[in-house]
Amino acid sequence: MKSFDVAIIGSGPAGASAAFELSKSGISTVIIEKEILPRYKTCGGGLVFRGLKMMPFDISSVVEKEFYAIDTYFSKKHPCITTRREKPIVSMVMRDAFDNLIVEKAKSNGVTLLQNHKVVDITFGDIQTIHTTEGDIAAKFIIAADGALSPIAKIAGWKETRTLIPALEYEIEVPAADFERLSNDARFDIDAIPYGYAWCFPKKNHLSIGVAVVVKTNKKINLKEYYAEYLKILGITEILKEEGHGFVIPVAPRTDTFVQKNVFLTGDSAGLADPLVAEGISNSILSGVLAAQSIIESNLDYEKASSLYIEKLETTILPEVQKAGVLAHHFYNKKTFRNIILKKYGQYAAEAMTDLFMGERSYPDDYLKRISKKIKEAIF
Ligand SMILES: Cc1cc2nc3c(=O)[nH]c(=O)nc-3n(C[C@H](O)[C@H](O)[C@H](O)COP(=O)(O)OP(=O)(O)OC[C@H]3O[C@@H](n4cnc5c(N)ncnc54)[C@H](O)[C@@H]3O)c2cc1C
Repeated sequence: MKSFDVAIIGSGPAGASAAFELSKSGISTVIIEKEILPRYKTCGGGLVFRGLKMMPFDISSVVEKEFYAIDTYFSKKHPCITTRREKPIVSMVMRDAFDNLIVEKAKSNGVTLLQNHKVVDITFGDIQTIHTTEGDIAAKFIIAADGALSPIAKIAGWKETRTLIPALEYEIEVPAADFERLSNDARFDIDAIPYGYAWCFPKKNHLSIGVAVVVKTNKKINLKEYYAEYLKILGITEILKEEGHGFVIPVAPRTDTFVQKNVFLTGDSAGLADPLVAEGISNSILSGVLAAQSIIESNLDYEKASSLYIEKLETTILPEVQKAGVLAHHFYNKKTFRNIILKKYGQYAAEAMTDLFMGERSYPDDYLKRISKKIKEAIF
C-alpha cells in the first residue's frame, strides 16, 4: 500500500493550494482525485483580486480575460454602478485549466497525483487507510478538499451544518455582435433573481452566465426561468451553443468544528465561500494553505496541527464569513429597504465591495449602525 504523510482529497483550489504549500516543505503528499484532470468544474470562474494575489506563481497562462471595472445593476429604476481599479478586480478563468495549473506546479515540486481515484471510505486510526476505487492509500493526515458535497466530511462523522445554496451556470456561445457587445463588461445583476443575483462573466470566446439564490428561503425559485429572463435582460435572443450545469455553494461555515479524526476540512467542504456573493475560490485557496501550514508548523503533530488550524481560521476567514452572513441576510431579504439606501449610497457600497474583492478591507463590524446613521442624515 502506498503511504504518505498527508493525503489531500480533491484537486480544486483548496486541495491544489494545500498540495503546493506542502510541496515546499518536503512532507510527502498525495492528491487523490476522482476525476481525470483537467476536469470541468461548475463555476463562474471569476477570480477576484484578493484570491489572485494569494497565488504563489504567475497564472497569466490560464487567465482568459481581466476586468479592471465591474458593473452592478439593481432594479430598472437604478442606474448601473461602475467601480474601477488599477489592478484587475476580477480575472476570468476556466476552472479546469486554473485548478490543473496549481496541481501541475505541486507535482513539479514532488507531490503525487492519483487521479481517477474516487475515495469511497476511510478506516481511521493512528494512520488512516483511505479506500479508493483503485485501491488503498495510507496517510497520517487527511486534508478534505472534496467540495460542496464533501463525502469525506460525512465519512469522518460531520453532520450537515452548512447552508447550501443552489446555482446554475451556463457556458454559452452567442453571435459575434452580441459577444462584442457583452464581452467588455463583467456584470452583476442583483435584482434579476429574488434572494440572489445573476452574473455575466465573459471568457475568451464565450460567456459564463449564471444565476444563484444566495440566502436560504422557503420560496420556490425556478432558476431556469430566471436564467431565461436574464438572457432577455442581456439582449440575447440567439444562442449558438449552450452547456448548462447546476450545483450548490456552501455559504455558511460548519458549526461542528473543522478538524476531527486527523481530517482537516477546507474550502467548500468546510463551508467557507463568502456568504454575500458566494465567491468561493479565494477562501478555498486560503484555507488550503492554512491547513497545510498548520501541519508543517506542527511537525506532523496532530493535536498541535489541529489547534493551529482552528486558530488560523478564527483569525482570518471565520470572522469575515460571519459578518458577511449577517450582511447577506439584510441585503437579500430586505430588498425594498436595501434599494432605498442604495439609491443614495449605491456607489459608496459598490466601492466598499470592490475594496473587499481587492483584499484591501474587511467586512465592517458596525455597518448596521453606519446605515442607521446614514438614514438619519438622509431624513433629518
Ligand atoms: C454555479 C457556480 C458559480 C460559481 N462561481 C464562482 C465564481 O465566479 N468565483 C468564485 O470565487 N467562486 C465561485 N463559485 C464557488 C466555487 O466554485 C467554489 O467555492 C470552489 O470551487 C470550492 O473549491 P474547493 O477546492 O473547495 O472544491 P472544488 O473546486 O469543488 O473541488 C473539489 C474536488 O474534489 C473532488 N472530489 C469530490 N469527491 C471526491 C471523492 N470522493 N474522491 C476523490 N475526489 C473527490 C472533485 O472531483 C473536485 O475536483 C461558484 C460555484 C458555483 C456552483
